[in-house]
Amino acid sequence: MRAVVLTGPSRLEAVELDPPECGPHEVLLAMSALGLGDQDVAAFRGRRPVGPVPWLLGRQGVGEIAAIGERVTRPYRLGQQVVVEPDFCCRGCRACAAWFSSACPERVSLGLDRPGLLAEFAAVPAHFTWPAPRAVPLEDLVCAEPLAEAVAAARRAAAQPRQRALLLGADTRGLFLCLVLRARGLEVTVREPITERLDLACSLGAQPWSDGDDEFDVLFDNSGKRGALAESLDGLLPGGTVVLLTGAAAPPDGEELFRRQLIVRGSHGYDHPTDFPATVDALVSGEFAPGKLARRRYSLQGANRAFEEAAVNVAKPWLSYDW
Ligand SMILES: [Zn+2]
Repeated sequence: MRAVVLTGPSRLEAVELDPPECGPHEVLLAMSALGLGDQDVAAFRGRRPVGPVPWLLGRQGVGEIAAIGERVTRPYRLGQQVVVEPDFCCRGCRACAAWFSSACPERVSLGLDRPGLLAEFAAVPAHFTWPAPRAVPLEDLVCAEPLAEAVAAARRAAAQPRQRALLLGADTRGLFLCLVLRARGLEVTVREPITERLDLACSLGAQPWSDGDDEFDVLFDNSGKRGALAESLDGLLPGGTVVLLTGAAAPPDGEELFRRQLIVRGSHGYDHPTDFPATVDALVSGEFAPGKLARRRYSLQGANRAFEEAAVNVAKPWLSYDW
């Protein structure tokens, strides 16, 4: 089969590989589209360790079922289109049993810890695939993973319609969160210094932050900057919720938490098996239409350029498998 492999930092090459075998609990997918995200870029650039080169990258994939493992219990049929959930938890530990699979110590990531989807065919565990009809545009489906993270963040914040949310930092992750919060009926204010990002957030229905804005129910810190939270915390209502989307933030001190009765919550990844199918369902129903954030399409011949693009541009590039 044809494939594109990483052969060194920022170097991709087209090669021929043997197709993978379909294990008893797996489905073999004929790949059709792949979204690129931050983790792909980090691996491409050599900033995030992966397996030995040549290595198959690729996490955020959509494909058609080409073979079904003999012990797969889902009622799949050949030719059916599915979206891949690319982080495989163990489904057996205490974290998984408590619906915290994002904290599963056995979790492995497609394209990082095990070979990814940048090939004509890929075998993935059937439990981590979700059906999606062909009527949904591929540029929407390739956004399922970052949207699932945003769905998880909104769930962990207990976000409710008509609440006021303040979002610090509108990089790609922040923009997907903005889209989900708006779709869920929240009023979203964005604090972001880069004009292009702020404009994109406003095109999704957010409003720009201005000095003195307050009475927020929930504050999402996606700034990646240590002091950013403290600068915006006065705008949060008593009893409000702070959600940390990166590990860089400095949470409020105990005196402030106590006096203002704030809730602080970390949000890392998404949890299996709920967030991903909820996201795919929202894409199928049209509740989320993220195509605006994934408008740059490349063929596999342009894979190098697509990865470079993903590193510098906030709008998400994606690949279609026309060889
Ligand atoms: Zn587990």
